[in-house]
Amino acid sequence: MKKLLVGFMICIIGFLGIWLGFHYFMKKPNPYLKKGYTDQELARIEQLSEENQAYLLEADYYPNLLSYLDAEGMQEELLKDYILFEQLYGLGIEETIFIVNHHYNDVASYDENTIALMHGTYYIHEYLERYLKYENNLTITFDSQEAMRDYVITAVNSNLDYAFYTLDESANLEKQYLLLVNKYYKLSEDYVPENLVTIASTYGASLLLESTVYEQYKLMWSAAKQEGLSLYIRSPYRSYRTQQTLYNRYVAADGKAVADTYSARPGYSEHQTGLAFDVTSPSTNFDTFEYSQEFEWLKNNAHKYGFILRYPKGKEYITGYMYEPWHYRYVGVEAATKIYETGLTYEEYYAYYVR
Ligand SMILES: [Zn+2]
Repeated sequence: MKKLLVGFMICIIGFLGIWLGFHYFMKKPNPYLKKGYTDQELARIEQLSEENQAYLLEADYYPNLLSYLDAEGMQEELLKDYILFEQLYGLGIEETIFIVNHHYNDVASYDENTIALMHGTYYIHEYLERYLKYENNLTITFDSQEAMRDYVITAVNSNLDYAFYTLDESANLEKQYLLLVNKYYKLSEDYVPENLVTIASTYGASLLLESTVYEQYKLMWSAAKQEGLSLYIRSPYRSYRTQQTLYNRYVAADGKAVADTYSARPGYSEHQTGLAFDVTSPSTNFDTFEYSQEFEWLKNNAHKYGFILRYPKGKEYITGYMYEPWHYRYVGVEAATKIYETGLTYEEYYAYYVR
């Protein structure tokens, strides 16, 4: 009986040995290991999505795999794009991840200038060709490549690669309070904003302003009043015809070139939107308002009510207008706050955040 049991055990051990041996010798080698991946790499591959596993299986051995998988900002679903991009352009891991993550990986060539532009804060990818062209035609010299890059981005985002009044596009009315009207985007001759209301004499001249803008202005007016300050709207909404009359008068007096620096051509005036107004205090005029306490207060508080100083000092080349401390535009609190914080002109803000 004991002999039988021992025999049986030997048989079992024997079979087990044969079975293990069979599997050891017949087992197919792992296809990733066969490609050249190490055990360490294989362990990571097995954690990837099925799609990435399949891709790595069909592609050639990729020596930088672990560097990419461990890189900061890596998005696993873009792994294939990183690999393809790196193989095509030979840029470093950091640049490759930056470009692919931002979906900038559709350009024919990536020279130093192109990459520098892509790193600009307000870079807009679909403007790349325009940036490069504008940069090539620049005659100004800059302290650094960053300074030039930022200048180029600002200029093109503001359409400065076109001369004023040459783009001739209609303003996008669907943007409502974020509407942009300037020397590139115009309003039609018959455009009249909805909800125009008459300003009460306490707040300014008895003329028209868009109703929400008026409500926000009254809140601002009251807040200023609390500080012992007094605001007074001089010129709010202006119709196309009124602007036409004004502009023609200025042209007759100063000539077209000079008139264009301070007056909009009809259809191109922000006053026609009903969202803008010229304001001073009752005791100041356009020339002296800049030195008033009211102006000082507006500089730091207008954004809280959704207003921006539309034509700031030093930005004349962007806005196309001389510095106007009195001209305010309603864009809503969110946009106004962002503009206050970043120091962007509305042209730049519109290109980057609204358009
Ligand atoms: Zn104005």
